[in-house]
Amino acid sequence: MREEMIKTQLRDRGIQDEQVLAVMSKIPRHQFVPSEIEHLAYEDSPLSIGLNQTISQPYIVAYMTEALHLEPGERVLEIGTGSGYQTAVLAELAKEVYTVEIFDQLSKQAQQVLKSLGYQNIHFRVGDGWQGWAENAPYDAIIVTAAAPQIPRVLVDQLRDGGRMILPVGTLSQQLILGVKTNGHFQKIETIPVRFVPLIQVKSEEKK
Ligand code: SAH
Repeated sequence: MREEMIKTQLRDRGIQDEQVLAVMSKIPRHQFVPSEIEHLAYEDSPLSIGLNQTISQPYIVAYMTEALHLEPGERVLEIGTGSGYQTAVLAELAKEVYTVEIFDQLSKQAQQVLKSLGYQNIHFRVGDGWQGWAENAPYDAIIVTAAAPQIPRVLVDQLRDGGRMILPVGTLSQQLILGVKTNGHFQKIETIPVRFVPLIQVKSEEKK
């Protein structure tokens, strides 16, 4: 099923990065979904993982990862750990992954499966992704897997100059935005239309 996913959902639709394809053909995606829907893990769609959250569709995971062009020595920040599946893909391609999730329960579940698979280069935090993770900044790349109405400035601040970021932006209609930080400014392009769950806004915290 995994090989079929790689061919029909990824290769045939234009994913070309052999490293991304190799990594996704290795990672057991079915271990990242609730056991009742394990048989659906390789379907061409997002799936519910509880708490109104979803594991992203395989194509979107591949597309976003390919767009970041990660190098083996790089450090990447992920906002929205969710199931941890995208986290695993990143951990295979980068040196260190810092991942932030707002729901403690989802972070714990993701930690459990990622540890059982042997990953040792993933750092977990439960907290508000709008704030990024300042202590380990700047990052070579940032990926956000929930949609914000606008690009969070804090995340641009935590990207190194020359670093790349990909994130869905919008409310009902969303675009996947890809950009490079150049001389402190985020140079962006719109890529494809997408539908992500919203990046939750924590009201009690003051936003910068
Ligand atoms: N990459 C994940 C996507 C999960 S969906 C996967 O494929 O499994 C988006 C995730 O972002 C959810 O787990 C949700 O709880 C989390 N999230 C939403 N708002 C957040 C916020 N403000 N800070 C951190 N995580 C957030």
